[in-house]
Amino acid sequence: MPDSSFDFCIVGAGPSGLTAAYQLLKSGCSVVLIERQGRVGGLAKSYDYGGQIFDTGPKRFHTDDPIVLDFIQEITKGHITKIGRSTKVYFLGNYFEWPLQSKDLLKMPLGVSLKCALDLLKERPITDKSSFHQYINSKYGETLYSVFFKPYTQKFLRWDTEDIHSDWASTGINRTVIDKRIKANSLFDLFKALLLPAKVETEFLYPTEGGFGGFYEQLLGLCRDYPGFRLILSDTIVRLSDDGKQFEAQTGAGERLTFTDLIWTGNLNALSGIVATQHTHVHYLNTIFYNLICRQQGVASRQTAQWIYVSRGDSLISRLTCMKEFAPYTCGEGHYNIIAELTDSQANPVYFRDPDRHIDGILNELVKMRFLKHRKHVESVHVVPVEDTYPIYHRGYNKDFGSAAAGIKKFSKRIHLLGRCGAFWYNNSDHSIRFAIEMAGQLLGRQRREFDYRAYFGGSYPAVGGPSPGNAGQGA
Ligand SMILES: Cc1cc2nc3c(=O)[nH]c(=O)nc-3n(C[C@H](O)[C@H](O)[C@H](O)COP(=O)(O)OP(=O)(O)OC[C@H]3O[C@@H](n4cnc5c(N)ncnc54)[C@H](O)[C@@H]3O)c2cc1C
Repeated sequence: MPDSSFDFCIVGAGPSGLTAAYQLLKSGCSVVLIERQGRVGGLAKSYDYGGQIFDTGPKRFHTDDPIVLDFIQEITKGHITKIGRSTKVYFLGNYFEWPLQSKDLLKMPLGVSLKCALDLLKERPITDKSSFHQYINSKYGETLYSVFFKPYTQKFLRWDTEDIHSDWASTGINRTVIDKRIKANSLFDLFKALLLPAKVETEFLYPTEGGFGGFYEQLLGLCRDYPGFRLILSDTIVRLSDDGKQFEAQTGAGERLTFTDLIWTGNLNALSGIVATQHTHVHYLNTIFYNLICRQQGVASRQTAQWIYVSRGDSLISRLTCMKEFAPYTCGEGHYNIIAELTDSQANPVYFRDPDRHIDGILNELVKMRFLKHRKHVESVHVVPVEDTYPIYHRGYNKDFGSAAAGIKKFSKRIHLLGRCGAFWYNNSDHSIRFAIEMAGQLLGRQRREFDYRAYFGGSYPAVGGPSPGNAGQGA
């Protein structure tokens, strides 16, 4: 077979693209994997600055899915370790453990605690199932909505919270902030947890070398063992035609490729721009990761945790990550390295155009939050701007995604939308892995039923006010 003709072309070499490639290669298929960046891993890349390792997005696997766990074991051959969990929120000028503990009651202004307690007594009906505001209000009450969820979400998504879909809360907040084993799923549960704190031992998995991204480097290594594999980096597809049996594609560098099926895990607008004459735009968020190499003595150890969510609406930082809390080996001796995340709108960027300009602001905030004792303890700052970090679930997102996916399917039914960007699914990397395994199985004819990825985790399903993204994405 000439090396320009393949069974499958996969666009995007993140967790889902790499997993799909590996599964298809193992079954004897040929695969060309095209990635617009110079390295594989997608959001799950790690950066190594002379032995100081920083992850980008994912910092741990959190799954009890046996199919995903087997896959992780197969790739790492046991080079993965269990780690615990620690999350804090920086809220009303204080650090709180999350889930909240009873001692935190004393740290909250009395008025806020009382208002939260009164919220418990109020009926909070949902009249609009798509409303983020109503969803949060019904579960946590108006006080927590206005002092915590609203400012955090508005700052984070750079979008009016009144136009945010409840799916953002059901897929996002429930997963990232609230531990499912504690079931702090409502204000009532929160108060119960507050008064009767139960110690929860959640376990995550983290690779024993190379940071979280080490996993995907290993996966790439395994793909390379197959002669039918080809990786094209720093390029993408710019033209595509379909004769009903085969696609012919042209890359930005001018290379021509032919293949039978296309799996798209990348930015959906880029694909729509190639295949659909008129297309609906879907919205993603960008994030700048400020990777700070810090001296251990400069960090206030009482404030640290794996993740610290910063709820203040006017702060640059939305979340801090302490790499050492995930894996001590990621930080060199005497160092305690931190990642500060700053999200930015893709439609109206404020920070992304010149990310270095905001280093000062980030460092000042860290001092003001009493997280850093002094700026002088930061040895160096590495700035990593990343596009398409989150799909934005605004009120009309289902309709927009359904319409974009329908336009793509109209062009060809042999285009398969996969992963966080491709299927527009606010997910974790383990979800992308599972979805890729299922899709590969389906394309290989091993299973007939489509994988219902929205039902697998999160989101209200079937979709409110539009075609189901899962079905639209898979052409049903
Ligand atoms: C801040 C943050 C923290 C997170 N924490 C966790 C965590 O702790 N645990 C966890 O499991 N998950 C976590 N996630 C989620 C995780 O990153 C995603 O679920 C996972 O990366 C999705 O994999 P994917 O392959 O579907 O998409 P991506 O990782 O987004 O990969 C898509 C790839 O496609 C490429 N691409 C896009 N468009 C094109 C194009 N037109 N042409 C060519 N290539 C293209 C991109 O460059 C990228 O490499 C986190 C995410 C973020 C942003």
